[in-house]
Amino acid sequence: MITRSSALLQRPDREARPLSLQARWQTQLARAIRDPRELCRRLRLDETFWPGAERGHDLFEVRVPEAYLARIRPGDPSDPLLRQVLPLAEEALATPGYVADPLEEAEHAPAPGLIHKYAGRVLLIASPACAVNCRYCFRRHFPYEENAPSRAQWDESLEHIRRDTTIHEAILSGGDPLAASDRQLAWLVERLDAIPHLKRLRIHTRLPVVIPERIDDALLGWLSATRLQKVMVLHINHANEIDEAVIAACRRLSDAGVTLLNQSVLLRGVNDSVEALAALSERLFEAGILPYYLHVLDPVAGAAHFDVADLDARELVAGLREVLPGFLMPRLVREIPGERSKTPL
Ligand SMILES: *Cc1c(COP(=O)(O)O)cnc(C)c1O
Ligand code: SF4
Repeated sequence: MITRSSALLQRPDREARPLSLQARWQTQLARAIRDPRELCRRLRLDETFWPGAERGHDLFEVRVPEAYLARIRPGDPSDPLLRQVLPLAEEALATPGYVADPLEEAEHAPAPGLIHKYAGRVLLIASPACAVNCRYCFRRHFPYEENAPSRAQWDESLEHIRRDTTIHEAILSGGDPLAASDRQLAWLVERLDAIPHLKRLRIHTRLPVVIPERIDDALLGWLSATRLQKVMVLHINHANEIDEAVIAACRRLSDAGVTLLNQSVLLRGVNDSVEALAALSERLFEAGILPYYLHVLDPVAGAAHFDVADLDARELVAGLREVLPGFLMPRLVREIPGERSKTPL
């Protein structure tokens, strides 16, 4: 007999797709939709969307894997997930103050693929590619070609970390670091592991959300092998992004001793309401993830139509505080070039 309490303990796994039935993540990545018209067709958006989608695609190419597409409501141009990935004609508009490198990252690279802006932690561009191309991305104009390091260049970055004993945390970033192969990542993490003053390995990634099958045995192998404390900062902007497969992937990460946090970007038409942000925090917690940052949009050229005014952002967060427990409140921050940390609003 199933007692009431054991029924409550049962995890809501019913919709989870068994891992063995899903294509490997590499196959899913290779088969991602890269054609703006195909994206429109698959989501039943009529021909009026084509010219805008193609114009935007010329500036920053479309990329949407099937697993993410499956969470978008067909025929609904205002779907919050669709808005993150569908190119629009507005991306071609020049807006004062919106520039190619809003964070001036190019000025803080002591070695190719290494960004050292904040005390105690460095950011390594571990892969130039992403599993999904987000239209608001502040790196949409980033010169990844120049920042996709070879092994020799990795050695230069590793040497920078070895020499500076104030560095305690290595952050793998990108692009998406988990778009790199497990062989490359294992190589890199093994070397980071051997640097005595490093305490933590942090991974900034959207891949476990976009293609949950990325969290496979090969990944858990190198992740479990390191002595470094592990933090993964996911990037999720809307509750609908978290399906049962994402929850299953997060559970595997938690079981491997990874602390899970989330950063979101405040985006007009995606999550700019108290209801959407509250639902996101609640859903994150169901997946074992704590909200970390809520970023205001970086002023990158082509993304001005996503902007939420500061006044509205503050009001939203004040409203959120009235409905959420404190531990589910993300910190509203802005990145200001030259500052020693993210700046709270
Ligand atoms: C955001 C960021 C970090 C991490 O900052 P935290 O406040 O520790 O999350 C580190 N380096 C760079 C260059 C960053 O942009
Ligand atoms: S996954 Fe992150 S880095 Fe990649 S396009 Fe999206 S926001 Fe940009």
